[in-house]
Amino acid sequence: MTTAAWNMHGQAEPVRALRHALDGGHLSHAYLLTGPAGVGKATLARRLAQTLVCESLEDGAPCLECRTCKQIEAGTYPDIEHIAIGGVCDEGGPAHKDHSADNSTRIRICQVRRLERVANLAPYAAPRRIFIIDTADDFQREAAHALLKTLEEPPSSVLLILLATDIDALLPTVRSRCQEIALHPMPYAELTAALRESFELDEITAARLARDAHGRYGLAHRMHTDPSLAMLRETALADCERLAAAGRNERFDYAGTVASRWSRERASVLETLDAWRYWWRDRLHEAANTPGPTRCTAAEAVRALQALTRVREHLMANTYPQLAMEAMMLDLPTLAAAHGEESRAPLMV
Ligand SMILES: [Zn+2]
Ligand SMILES: [Zn+2]
Repeated sequence: MTTAAWNMHGQAEPVRALRHALDGGHLSHAYLLTGPAGVGKATLARRLAQTLVCESLEDGAPCLECRTCKQIEAGTYPDIEHIAIGGVCDEGGPAHKDHSADNSTRIRICQVRRLERVANLAPYAAPRRIFIIDTADDFQREAAHALLKTLEEPPSSVLLILLATDIDALLPTVRSRCQEIALHPMPYAELTAALRESFELDEITAARLARDAHGRYGLAHRMHTDPSLAMLRETALADCERLAAAGRNERFDYAGTVASRWSRERASVLETLDAWRYWWRDRLHEAANTPGPTRCTAAEAVRALQALTRVREHLMANTYPQLAMEAMMLDLPTLAAAHGEESRAPLMV
């Protein structure tokens, strides 16, 4: 970690782009930070905000020690609004106020209306009022359209930072009105070194964690501090392996179990699907790079990845989780059972 990289692991290029904009005085009014979950998008958004308000910048990097840096890190700084599924809104009535308790699966239009109102207020202490939208994938369609107005003519003292894991899920008009910055997973060796430094791990443990987290520092951090998450992802990979070779009945039983978990354990179901995505990406990588026969063809792996994208969309839109899961199971190719451990090892960064 260096001040040049805003004390982040990896992501030197995105930090460089933002520093360049800040140094040249041409910071955009809206950024779209893209990349897989756990890659560092939210951290980068906080670093940008901290750089704007830090009380003692060091070489253009936030100190992370002053009161405002700490408030931003803790999510309590008054000029930053976090917009996510289940946030507060301005509308009256029992159906509104705070959507955290009503099982919302999307960022609602009333939350965007609140954003619009607050965006027009002068900032309290910071040079800009900052909105961090985590994630823009989660907008209700009408909500995304409502946001366009603010994106088109933002008040001059506003900075919008949209985070997105799946840019294909965004309205093209939202995308085109933002300055886009892509974050990528770190090479395994680099992440291994970072994990050794951060958590004082031995080489083997750190390398394994780097691989299991597919090069994502944030995910590795969470897996290290929360063993239940590491176990959940490991179980997901074992299930994925087993189901790839299973028949329809076994797959449908599993679909039913996952669907019944959806309403109360949404985060863990999404985590499971994310692990599956990486398993199939490894099959794709294998098929594309191995001479001779592999467990599936590249076309089959692509079909599985598309099915995983669709099921996520259907689940988030709350359309019959059981049907959505069953449709996905039918779309997954059936592979021959694997021999040995090697197929579990993620191949790709
Ligand atoms: Zn500071
Ligand atoms: Zn509302």
